[in-house]
Amino acid sequence: MLMILIINNMVRQSRQTLQKKLLSQELASCSSFFTADEIFSKVKKKDDKIGIATVYRFLKEMKKNEQIHSYLCDRRVIYSTHPKNHCHFTCERCGKTSHITLDNIDFMKKKIEGNICHFQIDICGICTVCSNKK
Ligand SMILES: [Zn+2]
Ligand SMILES: [Zn+2]
Ligand SMILES: [Zn+2]
Repeated sequence: MLMILIINNMVRQSRQTLQKKLLSQELASCSSFFTADEIFSKVKKKDDKIGIATVYRFLKEMKKNEQIHSYLCDRRVIYSTHPKNHCHFTCERCGKTSHITLDNIDFMKKKIEGNICHFQIDICGICTVCSNKK
């Protein structure tokens, strides 16, 4: 009985290790932003026993270890393996969101106590389409 338990444990452990390895490989091949669902559907092709909960747990652990970075984009959580910045310009009238590039926020550094890893900024305004309508 004990023996079976031990073997079961070993099997479970090695499967977890294998799944983690698969997930790490998948993440390493991501050059852009990705979601948990995207990673899940990719690894599922290689290991159909993997569950979405495993993916979430893995991503949480990676984030805690500062190996991935997370952002909120269009009410979805997205991740990046690099400390990229993620900025939006959202029109208050039509709600359309576009991505903008903002490389540095040096002017804000003295307001922050601590080190900046990455930033996400949401800027609101009126888009050109909407402002041309008047
Ligand atoms: Zn970060
Ligand atoms: Zn976004
Ligand atoms: Zn607009």
